[in-house]
Amino acid sequence: MKKQRIIVAGAGPAGTVTALKLSQLGYSVTVIALPRPFSACEGISERVLQGLQNAGLHKALATIAAPSRRNANWNGSNSEANTERLIRRDLFDQALLQSLQETGIDVINGRVNKVEVNVERCVVSGKDTHNLPIQLEGDFFVEARGRSTPSGKQPRMRGPETVSLLQHWQGDPVTAQSMATSFTDGWAWMAQFSDGSRYTQITVAADAKDFPSKSGLQEYFLKRLKQLPEALPFYQGATPRGELVARSSTAILTHNPIDDASIRIGDAALAVDPLSGNGIFQALSTALVAPAVINTILQKPHSKAIAQQFYRERVTHAFMRFARMGRDFYKMETRWPEQAFWQQRQTWPDQQPMHEPVVPQQVSVVERPVVKEDLIELEDVVITPDQPLGIWHLAGIALAPIVKDLQTQPLVDNETLASRLRAKGFDGPRLQALTSWLSDQGIA
Ligand code: FAD
Repeated sequence: MKKQRIIVAGAGPAGTVTALKLSQLGYSVTVIALPRPFSACEGISERVLQGLQNAGLHKALATIAAPSRRNANWNGSNSEANTERLIRRDLFDQALLQSLQETGIDVINGRVNKVEVNVERCVVSGKDTHNLPIQLEGDFFVEARGRSTPSGKQPRMRGPETVSLLQHWQGDPVTAQSMATSFTDGWAWMAQFSDGSRYTQITVAADAKDFPSKSGLQEYFLKRLKQLPEALPFYQGATPRGELVARSSTAILTHNPIDDASIRIGDAALAVDPLSGNGIFQALSTALVAPAVINTILQKPHSKAIAQQFYRERVTHAFMRFARMGRDFYKMETRWPEQAFWQQRQTWPDQQPMHEPVVPQQVSVVERPVVKEDLIELEDVVITPDQPLGIWHLAGIALAPIVKDLQTQPLVDNETLASRLRAKGFDGPRLQALTSWLSDQGIA
């Protein structure tokens, strides 16, 4: 049988991880990738590192710096509790591209300009880096152009309009570290690498009255930066490298990220506020499920509605979770309640709590779509108000049969949760994970 062809636009973390998995599943994958036109620095947590390891992206991992101190000055108090991993996106993105090329995936260096998706086909056109035309036809299209993805006719939800101004500097070698700090109408993030490469970034409302036009950006940026004493050590004695870059950082959710022949992944589906520091994590999360969704649509068309529903719900749920997390972080800054910047972000997207309290009566077992052996299939999962999409496995154990058992046969007088679970063969860390989760829900 002829291999089905999948075209991926963009080779950031989302596009790369998805392309690698689709290729492993036996599809003929072509990636069209344009390098990011500026040097950016970003910070990631250890769980993103784990995600990159799981995806086998060893070259990209090798570009990531050792953990460095992360300072924060928020609501007037300083904290130095955290560390983070700093990434230079130009090096990281080059390494992603290399992993694709090494795996034998067809990579075209170029720009996608037009995408036409019909019921079962896609036609992608653009120009390669030698200005030669690209014209490809495929069975499925993966949109992974990040925030540059055209919105098209897609309905989207947008958070408060936000922009980040980023300047790269070079100075003498220093101790690697980063710092986040809030100010009257925005926040800043600074980072420096041991080789003296430094980045200063300020984030403000894109619709603020004093936000300048393009020609005034440099002056505006330097004026705002100089007002921040915490930023001084990050650029003092250093010289600017390259131009100031303005990056949109408005949170954006695409309401319908999937149809019969295309899917949006990573920032193209849901772009979160950089304050959450979770953009790359989110990109990897969509890339972990997208291949199974595509595989289902192409191999089991009778299950495509389930796969599409699964993906839509996952994307919306993740976006709302990160939007509320960002809101709660903005709320921790209480010094400028009269400022529109803080008012808007402390109330968006809604006032729903991050975590819903759970009572045992709200815990139920229902059939829902899950990722099973590279396909989306219906399985019994456990739903709670805090986990509305359901939990299928906990510590590798199917949870629904255990919850069903406890709901239909409650513990008797001298029986404990642990003894019931031990009798079912669970011990060690698995027993601990189950008892702790079930007790938290008040089930036993
Ligand atoms: P991207 O990484 O954006 O990849 C998209 C790729 O598509 C790029 O290589 C791009 O060049 C390419 N492309 C664009 N147009 C075309 C085209 N027409 N044809 C072909 N290719 C194209 N996340 C964190 O985890 N930590 C942080 O500290 C952090 N800081 C951030 C700061 C700011 C100001 C912003 C805006 C974002 C930040 N993020 C951070 C978010 C992070 O950058 C993204 O969430 C993540 O890179 C998304 O991955 P992706 O693969 O979806 O898209």
